[in-house]
Amino acid sequence: MKFNTKTIHGGQHHDPSTGAVMPPVFQTTTFAQTSPGKPIGDYVYSRSANPTRTALEEALASIENGAKGLAFSSGLAATDCLLRSFKAGDEIIAMDDLYGGTYRMFTKIYKNSGIKFHYVDMNDLDNVRALINENTKMVWVETPTNPLMKLADIAAVAKITKANNILFAVDNTFATPYLQNPLDLGADVVMHSATKYLAGHSDVVAGALIAKTAELGQQLHFQQFATGATLGPMDSFLVLRGIKTLHLRMQRHCENGEKVAEFLNNHPKVKTVYYPGLASHPYHEVAKKQMSAFGGMVSFDFVSGAKQDSIDFLEKVKIFTLAESLGGVESLANHPALMTHASIPEDKRKEVGITDDLVRLSIGVEDIEDLIEDLKQALT
Ligand SMILES: *Cc1c(COP(=O)(O)O)cnc(C)c1O
Repeated sequence: MKFNTKTIHGGQHHDPSTGAVMPPVFQTTTFAQTSPGKPIGDYVYSRSANPTRTALEEALASIENGAKGLAFSSGLAATDCLLRSFKAGDEIIAMDDLYGGTYRMFTKIYKNSGIKFHYVDMNDLDNVRALINENTKMVWVETPTNPLMKLADIAAVAKITKANNILFAVDNTFATPYLQNPLDLGADVVMHSATKYLAGHSDVVAGALIAKTAELGQQLHFQQFATGATLGPMDSFLVLRGIKTLHLRMQRHCENGEKVAEFLNNHPKVKTVYYPGLASHPYHEVAKKQMSAFGGMVSFDFVSGAKQDSIDFLEKVKIFTLAESLGGVESLANHPALMTHASIPEDKRKEVGITDDLVRLSIGVEDIEDLIEDLKQALT
C-alpha cells in the first residue's frame, strides 16, 4: 500500500458490529467478562487498550512502517514512556538543538534519576562516536529540530547505533512520515507530538511512539500500561481523523513553506532563514537525501539583531496567529526565546544559536498570497 492510501486505510477495519466506516468513539472504561478473567472480546480496561485507541495505533504503525504504534496523552508523555527504559548510570546522546520541553524533561527530571545526557551537534558524527561507551544506551535525534531546523543524517546515525547495539530514537514531529521514514532508515523507534501535523487542526494534545519491532513495541506497551499516560477515546478519534488528510495537508504546507522561505530570504530586513529547502541551509544536502520535501516550518532572524524588531513583527501579523504550537492548518508565529524555548537557559540558547530576535513560523495551508502579504506588512 502506498503512503497516500495508508493514511486513509492503514490498519483500519469497518466496525464489525455495525459496519460503521469510521471507528466509533468507545467512550468506556471497562469491558464485560463472562467468567472471571474471561472478557467477551479482546478488551479488559481502557488503560491497557481501548478499541478507538487501537484503531489509531494501527494507523500510526502503518504510516511509520513499524510493528507497533502507541498513543499517549501528549508528545512528552510518549517521550517519558520511552525514557522509562533506562536506569541510573545509563547514558543518552542527544542533539544540541531540541524541543524545549524535551530538553526540560532530560535536564530537570531524568538527569536527577541518574541518567547522563550528552548534547552534540550531529553535523559531525565523530561527536557521537567519541562519546560512546558501555553505558551508552540511546541516541535521541530530532530532525529537523525545533526551532533551528538542524538535521541529523538518520541512516548514518543508524550505522553507528547498530554497530554498538544502542537504541536509536527519532522525534519525527516536524517531518512526519509524509516526508521521511526513520524506521526504514534504521531507527528503532519514532516519537511524535501528534498534537502537531498528525492531528493537524490545533484541537488535541496527543503523542505517539512507533516501534520497529514487535518486541520493542511490547516492552513500550508494558511501560505505557504500567505508568498510564494513554490517549482517551475522543482524542484518539480526532488524531485518527487528522491522519486521513495528512498527505493533502503536508503537500500544501511544503509548497507554502518553500515560498515563504524564498520570500524571507530575499527580504532586506531578514538576516538568516532557517529552512532545509534553501540551498544555503547548512543541512540542505542531508535534507535532499532523506526527506521528500522540506516541510512547513521556517525560522528567521533580523539583520538588526534587535529583539524589539521580532516583537514588533509578531505584534503586527494578522493572518498568522501569535501562539505556541505548530503543524495546524492555520499559520502560527512564535518567539522561541520568549515562548516555546524559554525553559532553556539563556547561555545554552545562545550557544546553539537561538537568538533573542529569532522568529519561528508554522506555515499553514491558507492561500500563499495572503500569507506573503501578511509577512510583508508585518515586516515594514
Ligand atoms: C510539541 C513538540 C513536542 C512535545 O509534544 P506535546 O504534544 O506538546 O507534549 C516534542 N517534540 C517536538 C519537536 C515538538 O514540536
